[in-house]
Order: sequence, then C-alpha cells, then structure tokens
Amino acid sequence: EDRNRDEHEFLQAVEEVFYSLEPVIEKHPEYKETSVLERIAEPERQIIFRVPWVDDNGVVHVNRGFRVQFNGAIGPYKGGLRFHPSVYVGIIKFLGFEQIFKNSLTGLPIGGGKGGSDFNPKKKSDGEIRRFCESFMTELYRHIGPDVDVPAGDIGVGSREIGYLYGQYRRIRGAFKNGVITGKGLKYGGSLARKEATGYGLLYFVEEMLKANNNSIKGKVIAISGSGNVAIYACEKATELGAKVVAMSDSAGYIYHADGINLDTVKRLKEVERKRIKEYVKEHQGSKYHEGNVWEGKFKYDIALPCSTQNDIDMERAKNIIENGAIAVGEGANMPTSNDAIKFFLKKEILLAPAKAANAGGVATSALEMVQNSMRYSWSFEEVNNKLKDIMINIHKSACEASKEYGLGYNLVAGANIAGFKKVAEAMITQGIY
Ligand code: NDP
Repeated sequence: EDRNRDEHEFLQAVEEVFYSLEPVIEKHPEYKETSVLERIAEPERQIIFRVPWVDDNGVVHVNRGFRVQFNGAIGPYKGGLRFHPSVYVGIIKFLGFEQIFKNSLTGLPIGGGKGGSDFNPKKKSDGEIRRFCESFMTELYRHIGPDVDVPAGDIGVGSREIGYLYGQYRRIRGAFKNGVITGKGLKYGGSLARKEATGYGLLYFVEEMLKANNNSIKGKVIAISGSGNVAIYACEKATELGAKVVAMSDSAGYIYHADGINLDTVKRLKEVERKRIKEYVKEHQGSKYHEGNVWEGKFKYDIALPCSTQNDIDMERAKNIIENGAIAVGEGANMPTSNDAIKFFLKKEILLAPAKAANAGGVATSALEMVQNSMRYSWSFEEVNNKLKDIMINIHKSACEASKEYGLGYNLVAGANIAGFKKVAEAMITQGIY
C-alpha cells in the first residue's frame, strides 16, 4: 500500500477486487505461493511524459501524458485514453487495473492498460485539440502497436480525437497500421457498432440480470448520469427495449423529462454542437433543468444507470436512489459506486451490474475492430451487434457461475472479479515469474 499511498482511486479499486478474491485465495494455495496478487497489483510498465502544445494565441502549454501498461499476460495491452483535468497517476492506474479483469471477462485475448492526460478539452478550438493530440501521439507512438498496446477513447476522447491521434501515428510510422488504435471512423477501419457498444452492451447485460431475476427492462423508468458516449447509447437501447429514460446529466446538472428524454435533441446538443445538457429544456416543454448531481434528485425510477465518472454514487446518494424506488443499478461508468455504497446496495438486495462486466461491451467491440483490421475486412452492423450481445450474455453467465462456485449466491460484483481474475492469474502462473 505504501508505495501507492496517494493514489486513492487505485487503492479503492484494488481493495474492492481483493475483498472479492478472499475465498478464491483460500481455495487455491498456488496463488499465494506465486505472489500473484502482489504481482497483479503492480503495473508491468508506466510511462509518464511531457505534452507541450501551442494554443490559438501562440501561447505554449504543457500537460502531462500517461500510459500504464498494466498486464499483458493474456494479450496486448488494451484500454482507453482519458483527457480530463482530474487525471493523475492514481486515476490511470485504477482504470488500468480494472481493465485487466474486464478484458479477461470478455473472453477475448486482450491485456489491460489505460492512459490519458490532465489536458482539459472543454472550450478548446478544433485546432487546439488537434495540436494537443499530435503532440500526445508524438511521444506515445513509440510505446504502442497492434501487437503491443492498443489505445482507444474514454472521457474527453471521442471519434474526433481518435482521428487526430491516428493521423499523427500514421504520419510518424509511415505505415497504415490501423490496428494500433480503436474507435476509429468508419472510413479508415473503424467497426460498425463500436460507437454504440458500451451503452448497448450495458443494457444487454442489465436485461440478462433482470431476466435471471424474473424481471425485464420493458416498462421500466430509468435515470442516467452523464450525457456522453456511454450515456447516449444506453438511453437509445433502453428506449428500444421498452423503457422510459427520464433523466440525463453532465458535470453541472441534470435534466428531468417525465414524458421521456428526446434522444435526438441530446445527440445533436452533445455530439454535434458540443453544448451543455441544460440547453435541452429550451427545446422541450415540460422538461426541467436542475443544478447538481442527478443521484441527489428526488423523483421516481426503477433503474439507475451511472454513466459519467468514478465515485458518482456515495453512501448518501445510494440511499437516495433506493428511496426513489430503484430495484437495480447498472454501472456504465468505471467505478461509479464507492465501496461502502456497493456493500449497501448488496445488503438492500438491489440488483447490481458491476462496471467490469456491464460496461465491457465497449472494449469487446474494440477487440472485434482489431480482428476486422487484421483481416482487412469489415462486418455488418448486425453481425457486430449480435457478437456483442452474445459476449454480454456470456459475461453474465461467467460472473453468475463464479459467484455460485464460491457459495456467494447471485452476486455479480464478486462473480465478475473472480471470473476475470482466475484466467489472468492462471496465465501469469504458467508464464513464470513476470
Ligand atoms: P464522455 O466524455 O463521452 O462523457 C462523459 C460524461 O460524463 C459527460 O456527460 C460528462 O459531463 C460527465 N462527466 C465527466 N466527468 C464528470 C465529473 N467529474 N462529474 C460529473 N460528470 C462528469 O465519456 P464516456 O461516455 O466515454 O465515458 C463515461 C464513463 O464510461 C467513464 O467512466 C468511462 O471510463 C466509462 N467507459 C467508457 C467506455 C467507452 O467505450 N466510451 C467503455 C467503458 C467504460 P461534462 O461534459 O460536463 O464533463
């Protein structure tokens, strides 16, 4: 713990996983004998670098860039890049650590990594974003590759940023190696359904969870935090499955629309115009904007889908969510629920779909993008979407079985951690002491 002492989010993520693994370690002495827990909690490699860039007024700025190559035992490192002012090593390490287990759960051969920068993309011009991305890739390119480490998007990194990053990679390498990054545009090797994959996958997973408990999404009222990539496509699939989404948010506040959110408006405001969510209410009578966190709002819903950022739901907000009538929580964001709030939800028998399992559809589809890139071929939307659905059903099944195997009943939080861990741990043990 000591050497990671200021990395609060990382320590939180490790504590959550290690707590679930206690029964597994007890049953498998080989894990202890080979110090697999100590090894898995230390990244194989961490790269920290300078990212200088010039703004529109000719002023030079310096940001810090990160890439943590956490675990490559089952495949090349894979995980997104986050551009947000809150980024520091503790955030990238928590994300990279979680990514190991999530990627393992997908059943695909991908290791865990994550990266990003403390750069704030808000209120930057397109030229500033491009120059930042070029500078970032001018250092990152030497550490990545289709068989080495394959970044993707995350908060603040969408299709525009991926385009600039890949353009600079291609320019420096002088080769069209588009398997080096995922989330690409469709014209240069992106996969159909990748944009939708995390949000859709979340809903496929939540539907499986409800089905296993004799329930379903149809007819449910849903609240979502965030209005970015994950939130938008979670809303789209939820609506398609017959639910009504009544709330969405950004970091300043949330909108409530009892008739159901009009997603076309949200898509235009966020994906095209890059505006704040509060603009929505100007266009929709009967909708309301409230400042503050959506999970502090008092209104009725059956399912809560946190799709913004880590630690979005603490104990107080968890209590409020239950008071609002929620029976299930599906984590679209990474680590959106604090550890005490997770335990509280489980105690209250709220159905909890944990991030590692529930939001794995994004990275799984990224891995399918890599497959298509190496075949120099592309599948139809339907083909990718069907594969995504199968993967989410299988993740649910693996988490379920692992939880049962260790006598934990229907506990997807523990089950996902256990199933994700065992595959990586076994690969690590067979590969010796690395
Ligand atoms: P986006 O940048 O597209 O959207 C992020 C959303 O979350 C925005 O609405 C943003 O509001 C809000 N948000 C960000 N930071 C905060 C904060 N500190 N407090 C409150 N709200 C905040 O990101 P994504 O949708 O891609 O990612 C959302 C979550 O899902 C993250 O946790 C990410 O790690 C996770 N995830 C994403 C995957 C993907 O495929 N994209 C895959 C798996 C997980 P604002 O605009 O005001 O900042």
